Amino acid sequence: MQAITDLHTHTAYSHGKGTIEDNVCVAMKRGLQAVGIADHGPNHFFIGIGGVEAFRRMKNEIEALRHKYPEIKILFGVEANIVDTDGTIDVSAAILRELDFLLVGYHKMVRPRSLAFLWQGVRNFCSGWTKTSSALLRAANTAAITAAVRRYPIAAITHPGLQIDIDTAELGRVCKEYGTSLEINSSYGSELDPYIREALPTGVRFLLSSDAHVPERVGDFSQAYQLIRRLNIPEERIVNLEK
Ligand SMILES: [Zn+2]
Ligand SMILES: [Zn+2]
Repeated sequence: MQAITDLHTHTAYSHGKGTIEDNVCVAMKRGLQAVGIADHGPNHFFIGIGGVEAFRRMKNEIEALRHKYPEIKILFGVEANIVDTDGTIDVSAAILRELDFLLVGYHKMVRPRSLAFLWQGVRNFCSGWTKTSSALLRAANTAAITAAVRRYPIAAITHPGLQIDIDTAELGRVCKEYGTSLEINSSYGSELDPYIREALPTGVRFLLSSDAHVPERVGDFSQAYQLIRRLNIPEERIVNLEK
């Protein structure tokens, strides 16, 4: 089993430590065919990409690197945030047109677009704190993320179920219908098992990624491989394995 692309990698443009070039060089060393740069969307408090100007600089940097390293595909994406109850994300249509792919994650610590979503965020924060949730909150979270899947051309939902309580079986059904993958994120271990297990019977497909925040971890899929073996996920359900 060998993954050949790693779409979900971070750089110093958001929460990562290295440069885009650092990630590209490690991806080449590991023999990947493609590497994606997917930094956090601009509404992520403290760590999001710094607005339109930063997107422009990233785009220019990536174009220059494509000339310098023609042997690998370098893809420009983002790990966008859900910022409203109707699934709105924190990346404009104009920026989306400039990107090669879109990942969406439901994160805490994100600037909301509406009072209703601010309130939902407060409830999620409290529920994380007290380790309890309610059916109503879970339904509202699931409604927001499935609305995003219906609305945007999302390649994959990152770490589904991890930070926010959602029904990953329902998410899996909608993702299967719209051709969106669920991520198997190699930065986490068995804590992902219940969420992926719930989504498995829906027939949804999975994308393996490192979620590297330091260049050395680009293309490190070891935890994801272990999860696949633990849950007996058929290889044909994974979109980025070597055929
Ligand atoms: Zn994330
Ligand atoms: Zn990430």
